[in-house]
Amino acid sequence: MKKIQQLFQSEDGNIEQRENFLSLLEKIVSSLDELKNPKTTTLGPMKERSDNFYKELMQENQVPTSGVGLDQVVDELTQLMQGHPYHTHNFVTNVLPMASIPGILGQFTNALLNGNNLWDVYGPAAAECEVKVVAMMSKLVGYDYTQSFGYTTWGGQGAVFSGLRLAIAKQFPNAKEDGVPNNLYCFASENAHYSLLKSIEAVGIGSKHLIRIKAGKDHSMDIEDLRMRMTEVIENGGIPVYVVATTGATDQFAIDDVQAIKKVTTDLEQKHSLKPIHIHADSALGGFYAFFNDYDFKANPLQLETDVLQGLEQIKERMQYLPIADSLCFDFQKLGQTPYLTSLFLIKEGKHLQLLDIEDFDTPYVGNRGYGSYHTGYTLECSRMGSSIAIYAALQAFGKEGYQQILANYVRVNLAFRAQLAEKTPMLQVVNESNIGPVTAFRLYPEGFNWKSEQSGSYTQDQIEYINGINASLFEIIGEGRDEVFFGDTTRVCTVSTSDTKQQLPVAAAKFFSISPYTETEHIGDMIQFLQQKVKVLEDAKVEYSH
Ligand SMILES: *Cc1c(COP(=O)(O)O)cnc(C)c1O
Repeated sequence: MKKIQQLFQSEDGNIEQRENFLSLLEKIVSSLDELKNPKTTTLGPMKERSDNFYKELMQENQVPTSGVGLDQVVDELTQLMQGHPYHTHNFVTNVLPMASIPGILGQFTNALLNGNNLWDVYGPAAAECEVKVVAMMSKLVGYDYTQSFGYTTWGGQGAVFSGLRLAIAKQFPNAKEDGVPNNLYCFASENAHYSLLKSIEAVGIGSKHLIRIKAGKDHSMDIEDLRMRMTEVIENGGIPVYVVATTGATDQFAIDDVQAIKKVTTDLEQKHSLKPIHIHADSALGGFYAFFNDYDFKANPLQLETDVLQGLEQIKERMQYLPIADSLCFDFQKLGQTPYLTSLFLIKEGKHLQLLDIEDFDTPYVGNRGYGSYHTGYTLECSRMGSSIAIYAALQAFGKEGYQQILANYVRVNLAFRAQLAEKTPMLQVVNESNIGPVTAFRLYPEGFNWKSEQSGSYTQDQIEYINGINASLFEIIGEGRDEVFFGDTTRVCTVSTSDTKQQLPVAAAKFFSISPYTETEHIGDMIQFLQQKVKVLEDAKVEYSH
């Protein structure tokens, strides 16, 4: 047993076991450091994966008969780092940030304690932090913290799902026992995250009852289309239960107008005597810009440049309406700078969670005792990791100002990228001009074509597909060079209408996502040069450029 005990932290805090543990940690961190190179976006050279790569892994691996020893384990962990993407200044793909030190320390503390966030008897640290961060973020966003509640859950996806469970329970408190009625409908922008699609499938509403609302020129939900589609559903005997307002969409940072959406739902509730329709603001990504909701834009204490300030004010214009939503989400592993998985689900009226709770009889080994009562029977999870500890640590370390600085820098860098793109590579055109934020979606146009005409619906289906094809080729070329500059891409940043068919067609675009704390405006020039080279590679490959 002694040997097995050495695989654990000490029982008594002795120095020898601590130093062994710390030396292993030191080895992991220093091995990581050795692999770092700010001129690339990977740790060491990128890994090539053959077609058989995963199959071979399956063939080669089995549980060893005897344990291999911690030194070898650390060696193997170090090998896993080889070729891993790393968030240097040239890492501008999607919203995959570097985990900050406070976030890691929080997660680490959580791992050391290994509390179970199921209830406070087993995980008091996480239970306390959870209550703290729920209150902190409620106050930040403008919820009444004496009414609101929330919990950490499985991603922005989990928040969309939990919002839907609440939405159904509020209108049909017996649905838990009786099942879900077959005439329920949910609504979201065509640019919403696919979380809602999966959720609707999972609760049994059926994905045909997901109504996708057209997006307008700024890629946000077209409010008149929402009103029309909801009215249609009601007149045909359907019951609207859930509207997801995307406040910061993943591909182009479109921000739906929660206030306008609320007006539509209240109008319809009154007109048709409906029960309240739950609005979830999918703020997983964009919600962090609520850190500017009480920024003094006149005094400008952080001395932000005029264009950055304007961009942030434009975001605030929409983010100030977040507290109108019945529920919200903050994916701290995105703009909150903490490791995976640290998502916070917030509910305006915390009491509604009771609708999801299960009876004490059904949770025999946890629940309400004299010695503990923080009971999370309303979560879909049973055991939960205490991710609120990492969130708490990050909120403390950054403070409002720290978040404001890093979030403003994403905008600053992004605006610089757009400016240089326009100046130096006119064939690469920004397709989300009106969405200021951390992301720019840009699309390559052959001679004679441009985004303006495409967006206004002047191109034929063939022409749009042709441009999509060219962009797909460009993605491949840019992607091959991702160890140098790591851009993102999307096959559907939005849809456009065609001049010759009734179809809406997807628009493919490359993505610049400012997400590394190390990306600064001075780095943009090199990235633009990288893009120029890649466009040239595409041209030299003799892709036919006129049509
Ligand atoms: C990332 C994202 C999600 C999904 O969140 P996960 O944490 O990956 O589950 C949902 N909605 C939006 C708007 C997102 O950006």
